[in-house]
This record gives sequence, structure tokens and C-alpha cells, in this order.
Amino acid sequence: MKTISNKDMLSLLDKLKAKSKREANIFFSLCEKDSEIISTKKFKDVLLNSGLRAKDKRLYNLFQNLDAHGDRIVFEDFIDIIRSSELIVEKALRGELSIPDFSYFAKNLDNMFDEVKKIKSGELASYIPPLANVDPDQFGVAIVTTDGQIYQRGDSEVDFSIQSMCKPFNYCFAMEKLGLEKVHQHVGQEPSGRQFDDLTLLARSAVGQLNRIPFNPMVNAGAIMTAGLIGPEDSHSQRLRYIRQQFGRLIGWSPKGEFNTELPRFNKDMARQENFTGYNNIAMGYLLMATGNLPHTKTKLHNDIHPDQDEFDFYSEPAVTEALKLYFSICSLEMTSVNFATAAATLANSGVCPISQDRVLSQKTVRNCLPVLQTSGMYNASGTFFQQVGLPAKSGVGGGVILIVPRLMGICIFSPRLDEQGNSVRGIEMAKKITSKYLVHTFDGTMTDTDRLDPKIPISKWRANSCGEAIWAASNGNIRTLERLVSEQRDLQIGDYDMRTPLHLASAEGQLEAVKFLLKQGVKPIPDRWGGYGYFDAKNNNHKDIVKEYEKLDINYTQASHLVEDPNGKTDKMAIYDDELAVIELLFAAFENNVEGIRTLIAKGVPVHAGDYDSRTALHLAAAEGCMEVVEYLVSHGHPLFVRDRWGATPLDEAKREKRKSVYNFLKDFKLKT
Ligand code: GLN
Repeated sequence: MKTISNKDMLSLLDKLKAKSKREANIFFSLCEKDSEIISTKKFKDVLLNSGLRAKDKRLYNLFQNLDAHGDRIVFEDFIDIIRSSELIVEKALRGELSIPDFSYFAKNLDNMFDEVKKIKSGELASYIPPLANVDPDQFGVAIVTTDGQIYQRGDSEVDFSIQSMCKPFNYCFAMEKLGLEKVHQHVGQEPSGRQFDDLTLLARSAVGQLNRIPFNPMVNAGAIMTAGLIGPEDSHSQRLRYIRQQFGRLIGWSPKGEFNTELPRFNKDMARQENFTGYNNIAMGYLLMATGNLPHTKTKLHNDIHPDQDEFDFYSEPAVTEALKLYFSICSLEMTSVNFATAAATLANSGVCPISQDRVLSQKTVRNCLPVLQTSGMYNASGTFFQQVGLPAKSGVGGGVILIVPRLMGICIFSPRLDEQGNSVRGIEMAKKITSKYLVHTFDGTMTDTDRLDPKIPISKWRANSCGEAIWAASNGNIRTLERLVSEQRDLQIGDYDMRTPLHLASAEGQLEAVKFLLKQGVKPIPDRWGGYGYFDAKNNNHKDIVKEYEKLDINYTQASHLVEDPNGKTDKMAIYDDELAVIELLFAAFENNVEGIRTLIAKGVPVHAGDYDSRTALHLAAAEGCMEVVEYLVSHGHPLFVRDRWGATPLDEAKREKRKSVYNFLKDFKLKT
């Protein structure tokens, strides 16, 4: 392999840009150490670590081509590969998929899973043997994003009974066939506040006449009604086949048999048992018939009974039995958590399956379904669930729960022990854990709670957002921005990776008004990484007015202790980059040893050696924190060694001061070589 020096790496980037700008940064970010090639394996790994799967339709050809390609890729080939593959590849490489920090996200979910697994409370559904006999300890979680990233854990590939989780989909299928208005002549959209199998109907007056319809499609009465609405003129097997195929499409099945996805399994025994014990549902079927709202044909069928026999030909209404038979059959479909999460993701993705790109439902249908799920999906616990978790969701007595985070992801949790309302105990706990860690509650839009994360934002960017804007504003004396941040309830005390705060920077830059503003807001001076207070930033830079402000407070200010071995030694230039927050993000990634975070920023065109308000660079941070992997990555991608921060310290000085031995030795060796 031809290696090139650290200095030449930056000119390599310029050379690549001259050939083709669009792909240059991405290619450069993936380059093997000090070379002009990328490894095929590394390329694949980055794609897979982003949460995408090799069997994804959009990646299928790409992976085949890569397998045929050999283990090294030069820039010219890379351009071809990227151009011929879908945009998804570029998004993955630039960290722009629905959930950009997928491995961090997965790690957090793993932790939640392990916690929730300890919960053993709740009871299995016991009304029929096929549900009463499942292994109660099963626990699976799957998440599929609208970009097709997949997380799965535990029993996520075990088929389980859909039960009531079929209800939102039946509702969608009925709307696709009849449209919203027609469907709602037969079923309401009001929360019932009652048990799922309650027989009470909603009284609605229509043109001087009292009409009684099920409260909504998420209670049994409503679901029997929607089943009755789907293809009533067809035979049972035609109707069930249609529904299975629609479910299939929701989970990425295609009639051509691509993507290794099968149709949901039909558990005949389950359906039979539902029928044997489903008196309440059967009663409901007749009740719906009695209201005149269940679609039926007018002609009544007659059975032949011998005229001599003392009996009459008892009539049972086929519209009722057919609707019930279909409802019981649909409740007895089985899929895996990954399948259910994919179906939920199709709803999150406005009706397009993220795995197959098949538009299964219209945007309108999905948009009309989600509010009803939000208000009625969790039975009579829907209100509490909405407040606590705040997501459209649907549970089933088979132990499954699906949750939809619109435009982001579908979630399925499966664990068969149920609470009193018939919801999976672990399902609810897991859902609560997800919303207590991530800002995905429908009404989280207004929250600026920095303890919780937005999964759509990379973690380093999240950290940068929490402090970067205030620090830059303070250092530029931008009071308007500081005022806005206050009204947004942002914490102006938060420091960066060096514990430098808005107060430090305002003091260092002589921004008297900003210092006054911050102190008036009650911001407390705190020491930075080196033990220094803003007081000394002001003093050392001769900002006397600011020093006076500090002296009004009763604090014992300490001086920073920096280490600069060779103040007159060689000095390299850091890069100035316009997107100031991206620079803070880069430095946070370095601080957290997040090589992939750094790589995606480089892929987006942020210079490796961009510097912040204190002229700190990623290499300073990686050296100070002893993040060896990042140090190696930065240096091999052309980060110069002798950049100096505000106080003149180089990364080598920082490694020494913080006693990061291996980083120190590595940089020292490197220095000798150059
Ligand atoms: N098959 C069950 C019933 O109709 C479904 C109930 C449920 O999951 N809540 O009673």
C-alpha cells in the first residue's frame, strides 16, 4: 500500500475535490491510514454499523458489486459506486440517516432492555390455550426507522399472535377501500374509556335519527365492524388472503418474493379457539347487525328442513358470522417483532414500507389512523399512556405493543405478561423508558431538557447545541442571542469539553455587556479544565471593567495552570470553518473518542483541524482525553501536530499535562518522524 505523509493528506483532499467535489469528502473520510484507498470491508462495515442491512433493496446491488470488487477501492471506482447506488448510501456515510448515531442509540436501548427484562409481573392472557401456553418470559424488541435502519434484541424473531394489534391496520385497509367518510358512517373516532370488549355503543344522532355505532376502530366492536367493511362481497378466503397480503406489504413482502420476507402466518387453532370462547364478540356482532350498520345483503338464505319435522330453519346472519370469522382470523395472524416494527415504521413513514419502498397505504389513510391510535390504542389506559409516553400505540393480548414515532421509526415490544388493562407490562415499561431518554413524545417539541436526547441528532451535535450557541454568542458579545436562549430556558452555565462557559469567553474577549448580562441572569463563575475562572481570562487580557464585575462577587478565583513546553517552537495553522457549531461538534466527538462521529463530520466537509473560540482543535481534545483511536484517525487524515490553543499549548503539551502516556508517545514519535 502506498502511504503518504500526514501533510500530504490535506493536499490529497484538494486533489480529490478537483476531480469530483461531491464524493471527495466522503471518500477522504473513509481513506485508510495515510493512503489514497479505502478498504471494501471498512466501507461495508460503516454501512452496516449505520443500522442498514445488506438485504435492504437499496443496498442489494451495491453489496454484490462490492463483493465482486476486491478489497481496495480507489477514488475513480468509488465515484462510480456512489453514483450508481441510491442516495441512501451517501446519507449513511454522512451520518444523515433517521437515527444518525445508530450504535449509540442501540447501546442505550440495550441498557433499557436489560433493565426491563428484570420485571416479572403481570399475567398471561388465559382465555384460550394457545395464548395461555406461551413462554411468559419471552421478551423481544425491534425498531425500524423510516430510512430502514433496524435494531433488534431478544426474542425479536419469534412469531407471536397479533391479536388487537391488527385493529389499526384493519382500519387503514377499510379506509383504503371506502375512504374516511364511508368508514365513519359505521364506526366512530371517540375514545370509549371502557374495556376493549365492552358492549356499549356510541350514540350519534344523524338527521333526526339516533344511530349507534362502535366508539372507535380500536375496541373490539369497532374492529369487528372494520373487518365487516373489508370486501364484504368476497369469500372469506379471498378476504383473508387480501388482508394477509396487505400485512405482507407493510412488512416488506413482495409478490415476487424479494427481501426474504414471508406473509404473516395464520394460526388456525388460535382462530378456532377465539371462535369457541368468543361469546362476547359474537354478541357484539349481532348487536352491530341490530343497529343496521354492519354491511349485509338483503336476501336471507333458507336451509332445507323436511316439512314434517317440528322445527324451523333457524337463520344465522352470514354478514355477522363472516365479519366475526374474518375478525377472529385476523386476530390469529402471527409475525415477529421485527415484522411488526416494520409495519409500524410503514405508518411512521406515511404509508411507504421503508424496507421495500412499496407505498402500501395513502398518506391520508395514515394521517387519519394515527390520531385514533393516539387516543384509543391502549384500551382504557390510553389517556395515561398518551400523557406518559405520548405516542400513537397499539397493544394486543398476545403481548405485543407497537409504537409509532411519525417520520422517525416504528417500535415493537413483545412480552406476553399483561397488566389489568391487557397491555404488556414490559411493553409499557420499555415504552416509558424510551420516552424518558429520548425526546419523541408528541409534545416534546417545546422541551429544552438537555438530559433527554433527540435521536435525530448525533450525540456530539446534541452536546454542541446545548452549549455552543451560548458560548459563541458570549464571545461575540451578542446579547440578543443570549436573551433568546434565556427565554428558551437554556442553561447558560453549561460548559464545553474544556468546561469553558459563556462567562469565560465573554471575559476573555472583553465583552463587558455579555459578562454583566450573564451575571445578572444568576450564572455562577466556575473553573475550566485547567482550574481557571473567567476572572483571569479578563485579567490576563487586560479587560479591567470586567475584572471589576468579578470583584463584586465573593469568590476565591483560581488561575488556570496550562503547560506549554516550547512556546517559541513550530506553529501550525488551525482551520477556520464557518459553521461554528459543527466545529464544537467535531471537538465533542474527539472528546468522547467517537471516531465515527468525527468521520461523518469530515465526510460533510468539516476540516479535521478546525479550531474553536479558544483555538482548540480536535487533536487537542483527543490528546487531553487520551483518545488514542481518534488521535490516530486525525493524524492520519492530515491534522497538523503543532496547532496551538489560546494559551499556546500543542496537543503534545495537552497529552503530557493530562498524563496520557500512549498518546504522548505516539505524538512524540510522530514529531520525530516529521
Ligand atoms: N382476540 C381478542 C378478542 O377479540 C383480542 C383482544 C385483544 O387483544 N385485546 O377478544
